[in-house]
Amino acid sequence: MGRLDGKVAIVTGGAQGQGAEICRAFVGEGAKVVIADVADELGELLAKDLEQKAPGAAYFRHHDVSDESSWIALVADVNERFGPVNVLANNAGILRFAEVERMEQAEFELLFRVNAMGCFLGMKSVARTMRKNGGGSIINASSIEGLAGMPMCTAYAGTKFAIRGMTKAAALELGPKGIRVNSIHPGMIDTPMTRPHGGDAAMEFGASKVALKRVGTPADIAPLYVYLASDESSFVTGAEIAIDGGATATHAFGG
Ligand code: NAD
Repeated sequence: MGRLDGKVAIVTGGAQGQGAEICRAFVGEGAKVVIADVADELGELLAKDLEQKAPGAAYFRHHDVSDESSWIALVADVNERFGPVNVLANNAGILRFAEVERMEQAEFELLFRVNAMGCFLGMKSVARTMRKNGGGSIINASSIEGLAGMPMCTAYAGTKFAIRGMTKAAALELGPKGIRVNSIHPGMIDTPMTRPHGGDAAMEFGASKVALKRVGTPADIAPLYVYLASDESSFVTGAEIAIDGGATATHAFGG
């Protein structure tokens, strides 16, 4: 018996990093999974790998979270291939650093299109199916930048605070329809997002600042997604869960 037997899940940004580990963990617990990402090559590779481990449990589909028509087609396709979707891991995201004075409007808009609007469109697109088929669980990837600020991150933090707020409003609206909505807030996690140029310097700095004195890995994050996707979390909604090695346990003088 898997903890996610009978679950049909969409994992956005599932081709690499945390999303890929979430896909592996979901399939390992018995879920059917669509890996939804703009990164076709990586997504197909992961789908091939999962096919060997659990035939028929996962497939890749090109999907841009900032495009509503892409969402409509994705949900219709999953419903047809696997049955009604009942888990959405709204994990896709992008990160851009810039000082307030230097952040270009186009870059700011891109961050909000992918991170915030992508999250909203995901909730909008699955709500009807979930409501009509006995409910579901939506897990929104915010960040510790959705709980507190960091220099150079004004736009990114704006998107992650938006996700935290949308999560609570949607949880209130969708709860009576059997749909739970929660946000998770990872600290620094070792993925391609945090290593755009390789190298360990950023990792060592990040590790030095938190209680557990290490950065996280996708394997630290995926079990929380499994819990929130499963019926074990049936009374958890509207919650914001930090998973950050203690990064947000401190005020500015700690760490
Ligand atoms: P990552 O860059 O390794 O993976 C992100 C994935 O999202 C990639 O596969 C990418 O192709 C995909 N993606 C980007 N734009 C997309 C779009 N428009 N449509 C569909 N897919 C798209 O990053 P990660 O570290 O695995 O991050 C996953 C989530 O966790 C993100 O929302 C990120 O903001 C958040 N997060 C990351 C960290 C960290 O330290 N890595 C910390 C807190 C929160």
